[in-house]
Amino acid sequence: MNKVPVGVSECLLGRPVRFDAGHKLDPYLTGVLGDYLAYHPTCPEVAIGLGVPREPVQLVATDSDVRVQGVANTELDVTDALRTHADAIVEDAGDLCGYIFMQKSPSCGVFAMKRYDKSGSLLDYEGRGAYAGRLMERMPWLPVEEAGRLESPVLRDSFLTRVFTLYDWKQAVVTEPTPEKIADFLARHKYLIMAHRVAGYAALSRLLVELPERDISEVCEDFIKTLMEALSHVAGRNGNANAMNHMRGLLRWRISAAESDKLIEKIAAYHRGEAPLIVPLTRLKQYLSHVEDPYLHQQSFWEPYPAKLSLRHTIVEDL
Ligand code: SF4
Repeated sequence: MNKVPVGVSECLLGRPVRFDAGHKLDPYLTGVLGDYLAYHPTCPEVAIGLGVPREPVQLVATDSDVRVQGVANTELDVTDALRTHADAIVEDAGDLCGYIFMQKSPSCGVFAMKRYDKSGSLLDYEGRGAYAGRLMERMPWLPVEEAGRLESPVLRDSFLTRVFTLYDWKQAVVTEPTPEKIADFLARHKYLIMAHRVAGYAALSRLLVELPERDISEVCEDFIKTLMEALSHVAGRNGNANAMNHMRGLLRWRISAAESDKLIEKIAAYHRGEAPLIVPLTRLKQYLSHVEDPYLHQQSFWEPYPAKLSLRHTIVEDL
């Protein structure tokens, strides 16, 4: 398959663009993930003209805003330049299917960034980088994650699921959307979406019903926002067990009662936390391999992203 276009903080690729002329090479990004993702790197601080090396900056909370200012030179304020650069990136980011940011950066950090008050004292950990924040505001449906958090198998699974599902949407529907293509897409991802958020699947189904009355491009916009919101909820044991039980229901007339009982027990053991997802999933796939059922075979639930990343099946914990 083609590599999936994903934005990335440039220092994560090992390029020496940090304030101290260092980098933050992430071997997982450049190695394993690099086989599947086509990176679009940006260092926003370099892009707005700050040199390498440069004075470090930090987030400073004012009365009405959070600014990115120099640590030593408090006259230096690059907030507006970073936001303007994010706006320019958005204009050219139509095919991006995700963004991986460097954590703890006043420009790129997404979660729990340190904020300081005007006197330089630590205020809280509620900040977000100015560049990342503007991108997320402008592209709320875009899957984003910090490189450090991708070390968690659960968060990595969640991010990759969203990235590859968005890529599928762009490939299958966006260029020339039709009601049939949207319906096919939803059918193919039904159990994956249900595993993450049953209400999300119901909302997407409603959008399909509205299609004849609405402009299709507007429906597509609502669809992708709703879909990405649904998939941003981590598929835990409840969601996965529910989806697998639905699929088991579709198989039940084509497998023996004993096989069905075994399946029920495997799903229940996973649901109780006594077995990893791979146990019921493997059993379901075994039964499915003997059954002609294009609808079930096409489900992205089996493999939301390339099998070689072989991650989802080994997840044992819930968030
Ligand atoms: S975290 Fe962002 S701003 Fe800082 S060096 Fe990396 S890419 Fe540049």
